[in-house]
Amino acid sequence: MTGHRFLGGFIGSSEDKLKWLKERVQGWVQSVKKLSPAAQQQPQAAYVAFTRCLQNEWTFIQRVVDGDADSFSPLKQTIIDDFLPNLFGSPIQRHEGDLFCRPSRHGGLGVSDPIRNATSNFNLSREATKILSSALKSGESLDLNDYDGAIRSVKNKKQDIDKFWKEDTLALLDSFSEVRKRSILRKVDYQCSGWLSVIPIEGNEFDMSPDEFRDSLALRYGRTPIKMPDTCDADGSVFDLNHALNCPKGGLVYGRHNETRDLNCNLLELAGFKQVCSEPVIVETDKDGNNGLRADWGVRGFWEPQKQALFDVCILNADSPSLEHLSLQNLFNQRKNKKISTYSKAANARRATFHPILATCNAVFDKDAEIYIKRMGVHLSKKWKMQYSKTVGFIRARMQTCILRSVSLCIRGSRTKWRGAGVEDGAALPYIDRHT
Ligand SMILES: [Zn+2]
Repeated sequence: MTGHRFLGGFIGSSEDKLKWLKERVQGWVQSVKKLSPAAQQQPQAAYVAFTRCLQNEWTFIQRVVDGDADSFSPLKQTIIDDFLPNLFGSPIQRHEGDLFCRPSRHGGLGVSDPIRNATSNFNLSREATKILSSALKSGESLDLNDYDGAIRSVKNKKQDIDKFWKEDTLALLDSFSEVRKRSILRKVDYQCSGWLSVIPIEGNEFDMSPDEFRDSLALRYGRTPIKMPDTCDADGSVFDLNHALNCPKGGLVYGRHNETRDLNCNLLELAGFKQVCSEPVIVETDKDGNNGLRADWGVRGFWEPQKQALFDVCILNADSPSLEHLSLQNLFNQRKNKKISTYSKAANARRATFHPILATCNAVFDKDAEIYIKRMGVHLSKKWKMQYSKTVGFIRARMQTCILRSVSLCIRGSRTKWRGAGVEDGAALPYIDRHT
């Protein structure tokens, strides 16, 4: 015998190691193939199982076994040819597959590329543990300062790898159309991937239906959502993504705004605020019932004790053709200034502060909205006695899920009117024949 499995890894001759690794890779190929039909039926659950569990198996082996990166080719092939198309519910192109197999902060899906990461996973792991392993081998005592130094040096190398990924992603995006490139770059420039890293369990409101999850993925990558109707059921217009996100008929566009309002009122109540108000009046209507002004929600004590804070939300379709000449920041600034000029003076007259909360339909938040989320994190983490960063992560992901769900409804929901009772009041009843 020239090799043996040892502590989850393998030691022995290169030939035996390669043979063992090939068998392991075949095992993972089978696992990914088994998960693919689940991705077809329940994409979010399969995605979480893949990224939070399955891929950690080969990441671990890559850290402890100095194997040949090419051995992982069949695995990457299966991920791109089998798993990802099932996840998206439609075929994917080669360069899309390359993008998806990247960390989410670099525009990917957090799917670990088993070939590209193989060498760096092993080298970084060996570097981080070299002081520890030499102390174990020699029996000498461990110098904690040296050990800390090795860990720090690995962290610096990780930053270099991150820089490489960033440049590599920018180069890859050149192979996408200008429209898609601009849309994907926004996901790289802003923090908007929290919803991908949540674990949906019953009752935590993070579970998305197959359509909701796939629509959110499509919007993230500037793809056309699958199974789109041909025409709008309210006005007969061609039903493309922009029509779905902009058509006000049937109240679906207004609904995504209301959902965010209701969620925020709920979060503020959970944070222990007693004086939370949905749609507070800022300016009373005149004698004809016109010219009134309402914010979306208000709360006392959010920024300063006893002072009322008013908020108004706007969820905009930043990829609309009429807005594509504007950078996202300019677009946010434009909308923000408009809201401030409408509300601020009246809010000040009521001794209240006013803040617009802006986000795009694919859940990218404006920087001021991020400040709001962080402030909410301070209040909620205190109330729940939870870590601040975790609480902020929860609030951001929860707000993203809320927007993505209501945006999916704009694509899938019905815009036709509900049938009413058919009569205005009881006076119409004599006109209805009685067949007795
Ligand atoms: Zn329409």
